[in-house]
Amino acid sequence: MARRRQLYEGKAKILFEGPEPGTLVQYFKDDATAFNAQKKGTITGKGVLNNRISEFLMTKLAEINIPTHFIRRLNMREQLIKEVEIIPIEVVVRNIAAGSLAQRLGIPEGTRLPRSIVEYYYKNDQLNDPMVAEEHITAFGWASAQDVDDIVHYTLRINDFLTGLFLGVGITLVDFKLEFGRLYENDEMRVVLADEISPDNCRLWDAKTNEKMDKDRFRRDLGKIEEAYQEVARRLGILPEAGSRDMKGPETMQ
Ligand code: 5GP
Repeated sequence: MARRRQLYEGKAKILFEGPEPGTLVQYFKDDATAFNAQKKGTITGKGVLNNRISEFLMTKLAEINIPTHFIRRLNMREQLIKEVEIIPIEVVVRNIAAGSLAQRLGIPEGTRLPRSIVEYYYKNDQLNDPMVAEEHITAFGWASAQDVDDIVHYTLRINDFLTGLFLGVGITLVDFKLEFGRLYENDEMRVVLADEISPDNCRLWDAKTNEKMDKDRFRRDLGKIEEAYQEVARRLGILPEAGSRDMKGPETMQ
């Protein structure tokens, strides 16, 4: 097999040139980082599970007409995606107070918010992803007012849909982070959902016990991280067939 050109390596994923123009291969690593990479570790099998979970959720979202970068899963750790120009904004939606919101505003973790709150963070590791307002986004040209309108529209629909989907399998969607990109097709540009949706960028709590089933187990050293990710996949009905035996998956080809 021909060697593929690596285009970008992030904390949890690698992007390779895709088989056709306008496509990329997104490889999911087991590496985990937190607090802007000050804490580093490995969660065995995470890449396999996040590949599957993100495939499942992006496919479901496409069914309700949310445009996404996802094309198809290629193997245990890789998916084919459309090449997009990433908008340098992390969009966070919160339904229940947790994490940085609980800390910043002194609201006890677990408090249901009066309504869902959308926040924006400027994607910049050197600056520690600072929170920004829509004013900053449009004034500095990171996205146009129309892009922001599209992003908010999609984000709120995604939140409604995923809240229901997770509740159906006994999981509370506390908060999550999305990224969007610009897709250029036939001289037209549209905003599409990019990156991934997985327990790495969602807070997922067991609906009955409030037990954490996401990356907070790694961030806060709560243990049983692999088991939590597997349980999310199991409840969604998508645990890889061979179960945890297959979790290590093939190594990245470079
Ligand atoms: P918080 O602002 O409370 O730390 O995070 C809010 C939500 O967004 C959480 O679900 C968290 O997982 C997600 N999130 C925020 N920033 C990042 C990030 O840089 N990387 C990842 N993977 N998730 C993030």
